[in-house]
Amino acid sequence: MQDVVEKVYEQVVARNRGEAEFHQAVREVLESLGPVISKHPHYAEDGLLERIVEPERQIMFRVPWVDDAGAVHVNRGFRIEFNSALGPYKGGLRFHPSVNAGIIKFLGFEQIFKNALTGQGIGGGKGGSDFDPHGRSDAEVMRFCQSFMTELSRHIGPNTDVPAGDIGVGGREIGYLFGQYKRLRNSYDAGVLTGKGLAWGGSLARTEATGYGTVLFAQSMLATKGDSLEGKKIAVSGAGNVAIYAIEKAQQLGAKPITFSDSSGYVVDEAGVDLELLKQVKEVERGRVADYVSRRPGARLVTEGRPWDVPVDVALPCATQNELDADSAASLLRNGCAVVAEGANMPCTPEAIEAFQAAGILYAPGKASNAGGVATSALEMEQNAGRTRWDFATAEAKLTGIMADIHDSCVEAAETYGRPGDYVLGANAAGFTRVADVMIAHGIV
Ligand code: NDP
Repeated sequence: MQDVVEKVYEQVVARNRGEAEFHQAVREVLESLGPVISKHPHYAEDGLLERIVEPERQIMFRVPWVDDAGAVHVNRGFRIEFNSALGPYKGGLRFHPSVNAGIIKFLGFEQIFKNALTGQGIGGGKGGSDFDPHGRSDAEVMRFCQSFMTELSRHIGPNTDVPAGDIGVGGREIGYLFGQYKRLRNSYDAGVLTGKGLAWGGSLARTEATGYGTVLFAQSMLATKGDSLEGKKIAVSGAGNVAIYAIEKAQQLGAKPITFSDSSGYVVDEAGVDLELLKQVKEVERGRVADYVSRRPGARLVTEGRPWDVPVDVALPCATQNELDADSAASLLRNGCAVVAEGANMPCTPEAIEAFQAAGILYAPGKASNAGGVATSALEMEQNAGRTRWDFATAEAKLTGIMADIHDSCVEAAETYGRPGDYVLGANAAGFTRVADVMIAHGIV
């Protein structure tokens, strides 16, 4: 790292002690900025780097709620409003027991550059809670969401901050959150949340967008080599929103996804994933991956390790941060994997990324490859503002165009700064310069 960025990184570590994931995300971006700042030194002036790594606002609050047996629970809620240079803060809510300030901060920081890459006028934010929805009844999830929104509603709004889903927050949770927001405000502000149901302001293709976008990005990367996903074997991790729709788009493009996972293990289905069965188990029954195996002859459940030991051509990590480490990367490379596109946020460790880059394979960071979700959320906001609804083909065509533009911006920035084919540098440089130019225009705020 250059001296100027090293100093900023050291300040981030000193000021945000113990927040390892946030340090990791900041380091990855700052490391990419060396060539950008060498070429354009003004980006390091007026405290711009110091300002971009400091959230504009951090909100942390108590979330008390009562379970079905009458016991009181107290969770912690977070909303990090990181950067509003390009538009209202925009980013999902995560409900998972691992959530803490550092995880939300890393996600919010990534979101700034991801949102800038979409070109849609949305700032960066993220939120969530250490609440664990697994095993909770609908009524418990509803009471939790109502308590969470009672505080969050003071801080959000269609032109201020627009949350969406993430791990543990899907259509059910967005519904309860929206219902409580509407009740508290006595106002039908459809644009205050995205990922809504289709009958009350949701956008067609939003559910599919992140997974579809990730696969479209992988397809664009392959196209630069005159290749495509047709006939490729794919390892997918996760079995949630992103994983399911990555599998769906990959199948549409003629590829063969053969794995998926959840926190209980991973499934290998050499015949190719039965998507209808997976949706039934995960989306309808909210079951575990073992429930798929028990109904699918030939599929096997592996409860140790991660799917990266299975020989494949393409890997799509779609579960969570740091789920693909140096050993997993070595195993993928040994087996001839030539493409990795991140559906999750920061799923590959820095060591894994280094191994992929050293091997010269195609590797896409999540802030570029999984940006289709937030891009389609911004399309949902656009439809809400215009009181209109596009059909699926229109929404999907816009998503496809945005993913192609993001891919091309990354390629172009990587070439501009002297590292053709480096999608990490390309995504960070293209996202950073868009935000930084506007921050400069707005003055020191
Ligand atoms: P879901 O809650 O729908 O699914 C998450 C999946 O990952 C589940 O199968 C879950 O298993 C698994 N998982 C989560 N945490 C862990 C863990 N610590 N160890 C093992 N498995 C785990 O979330 P999404 O699909 O929405 O999100 C997945 C990833 O994609 C996240 O990194 C998210 O930030 C990112 N993302 C999501 C977007 C979206 O639009 N939804 C947009 C951009 C990025 P289990 O149920 O057993 O916990």
